[in-house]
Amino acid sequence: AAVRQVDFVTGAVSMDTLPPPITTEVAFVGRSNVGKSSLVNMLCNRKALAYVSGTPGKTQQFNYFHVNAKDQESQFYMVDLPGVGYARVPRPVQEAWIRFMEQYLQYRTSLRLIFHLIDGRHGAMTDDEQLMRLIAASGRQKGEYVVVFTKMDKMDKQKLKQAVINETRSALSRNGCRSDTPIVISSSSTRLGRDEMWRHLQSVLVS
Ligand code: GDP
Repeated sequence: AAVRQVDFVTGAVSMDTLPPPITTEVAFVGRSNVGKSSLVNMLCNRKALAYVSGTPGKTQQFNYFHVNAKDQESQFYMVDLPGVGYARVPRPVQEAWIRFMEQYLQYRTSLRLIFHLIDGRHGAMTDDEQLMRLIAASGRQKGEYVVVFTKMDKMDKQKLKQAVINETRSALSRNGCRSDTPIVISSSSTRLGRDEMWRHLQSVLVS
């Protein structure tokens, strides 16, 4: 699990601006401030992934990064999905995001893995449940959808941890997601969960 190279590819805003599906795709999604950038950087051993500076509205785009572009075996697209639909954005923007997301989940066949990041201290919020419904509707295979609890270094009470996990299991089930959806406990500060996330990644890269 070595990331040797990461190149920014493009920021997509609709199905027809997605890059050609030349390699396996792994997406990261979650509310803003969930710890997505920190986690992606931790996974890639990077301080920060460089966006092409000056790209307008980059936070509302599907940001594509090509990992290990020069190596057939280990290359993949890492897609940083926007937290809109999530944040306090105007309703039309939110609805457009949901439509794009719905189509993307349904029709992007190169998409093989979705990491859904949820802040471990708060558990699934309304918009996370919305995302669970979209994912359930898109009919993912086993191992193609993984929930990741972030910032778990801040949770020291075992009882609380278990409660959030139980609540999230109920949320997954009431929104139609598979009962065997994996939940990874992570922290970018302590690098907890890194190996487990890489195992999920590896398994879609080799298959
Ligand atoms: P993003 O908006 O989802 O990309 O979130 P960031 O990665 O920018 O993180 C949001 C805030 O949470 C920042 O202040 C980070 O320092 C903090 N943060 C992110 N990951 C962790 C973590 O694993 N543990 C702790 N304690 N704080 C974190």
